Amino acid sequence: MGKGFFEVPVAINEPINSYAPGTPEREEVLKTYKAMYNSTVDVPLYINGKDITTGDTATMAPPHDHKHILGTYHKAEKKHVQEAIDTALEARKKWANMPWEQRAGIFLRAAELIAGPYRAKINAATMLAQSKTIHQAEIDAACELIDFLRFNVQFMTEIYAEQPESTSGAWNRLEYRPLEGFVYAITPFNFTAIAGNLPASAALMGNVVIWKPSDSQVYSAKVVLDVFREAGVPDGVINMVMGDPIMITDTVLASPDFSGIHFTGSTHVFKDIWQKIGTNIHNYKTYPRIVGETGGKDFIVAHKTSNPRQVATAIARGAFEFQGQKCSAASRCYISESIWNEVKEYLTADINSFKIGSPENMENFVTAVIHEGSFDKLASYIDNAKKDDNVEIIAGGKYDKSEGYFIHPTVIKTEDPKYTTMCTELFGPVVTIYVFEDAKWNETLKLVDETSEYALTGAVFSEDRYALETAVRALENAAGNFYINDKPTGAVVGQQPFGGARASGTNDKAGSKLNLYRWISPRMVKETFVSPIDYKYPFLG
Ligand code: NAD
Repeated sequence: MGKGFFEVPVAINEPINSYAPGTPEREEVLKTYKAMYNSTVDVPLYINGKDITTGDTATMAPPHDHKHILGTYHKAEKKHVQEAIDTALEARKKWANMPWEQRAGIFLRAAELIAGPYRAKINAATMLAQSKTIHQAEIDAACELIDFLRFNVQFMTEIYAEQPESTSGAWNRLEYRPLEGFVYAITPFNFTAIAGNLPASAALMGNVVIWKPSDSQVYSAKVVLDVFREAGVPDGVINMVMGDPIMITDTVLASPDFSGIHFTGSTHVFKDIWQKIGTNIHNYKTYPRIVGETGGKDFIVAHKTSNPRQVATAIARGAFEFQGQKCSAASRCYISESIWNEVKEYLTADINSFKIGSPENMENFVTAVIHEGSFDKLASYIDNAKKDDNVEIIAGGKYDKSEGYFIHPTVIKTEDPKYTTMCTELFGPVVTIYVFEDAKWNETLKLVDETSEYALTGAVFSEDRYALETAVRALENAAGNFYINDKPTGAVVGQQPFGGARASGTNDKAGSKLNLYRWISPRMVKETFVSPIDYKYPFLG
């Protein structure tokens, strides 16, 4: 910034459209959904501003209608990944020196494109690709991605304004350089907003990026890419490659210029990547930044003083919205015995009222899980629970993949607080309940803390301040996002920075300044105005 201390627009959260019957946005998104459903797309790789078709393709289909083909995407060979790296490094020469206000302008423009002309398209694509209801698509693909883009621009300017003290004789300036090399962004299927944010946040800070979206999200990733292109992200700054994740990752990690990874996905994949980075450490020009937000086994714990209706609602929404495929979804619940019967009544009534099917029918609250692998895994856990004498299925338990990958929202009650579904991340609409004795609040909190390797989100319900305070302390390290009398899902950018520790990730809090710090390497510049001309200090006499 050479010619002014510019102020960016104050970031505000994008208002969420209701899509209630009769609203124009509902009509528009349904029309867009139908048009997209009835046509096909071919998604090429995107390298250095060019669409690259490789001829090696895979098909894309909606999880709720898996025989219907939405189109194809092209898979990269090693040479394409190498080309993406080489051209990104070339693009870096200009991009890393681009004044920040130009970078801000591009990503603010991307936010407005999503808020306006692309809103229906990005939502419809997310409904089709990931089988989200319109509400889930709106809070993810439209609002959260807009928020990430707007707030990150504001956070960037706040970081740049953080400067050290200077004296009259010397001026200290901190320059927030991008990393030397390129950043690799690997994104999960479950949030279009995360798919957009992982490459965009690093690029905003002046980095060039190789972005590998999930195979199951390419269809909506393409809309994100189109927004970036239209917003004016220069050629080579964000490159999108699809295909074999191991080949792509091994090629990227073999580059001496690899300088950071921005990952969201499952814990075992991230740990494997970390290990590979360790193995390659002697080859890198710089220590790579390793940022990964990973799995969860998120809890709700309800004290005897909590309101049963509120607890049941938190489970109904927290465990089953988007079919439990949010990393923050409640999947293990600990309920005090004196309120359990009431919670159970409300919860089963809620579940029995859920409508299940395609997101195109907006009466449906639950749609399909992402793919056959996920469906089969969930079905096998449900089957095992049916066979186990120590557990009881109190709701759901049905599944059907003839048309779409539909798993009915399932509640398992167990007498064993360490039962497999209390510990393992299933990533689907299955929640397990353990009922504890009212008097065992402290013991239960210890159990909550020690049951899982993860520490992503968790919620405590109580009307008793002492019980709440005990829980807040006892569960200090059990969740990076902790909720009091609320469901454990639904973090909002700028309000609840998101991320967890233990096996849930490096806790670099997407949607906050903390995350952006990972994509810069500060340079301290001290300028002395009149340099000394004698080495001798006064103490030398
Ligand atoms: P996933 O781990 O299967 O895939 C994530 C990404 O990694 C995809 O792009 C995939 O192609 C890639 N990948 C898969 N195997 C790989 C390998 N061997 N090497 C390199 N890359 C590989 O996860 P998913 O099913 O897409 O997403 C669900 C997971 O993500 C859950 O565990 C969930 O908890 C987690 N998640 C966490 C957060 C968070 O903020 N903590 C947010 C969203 C999702």
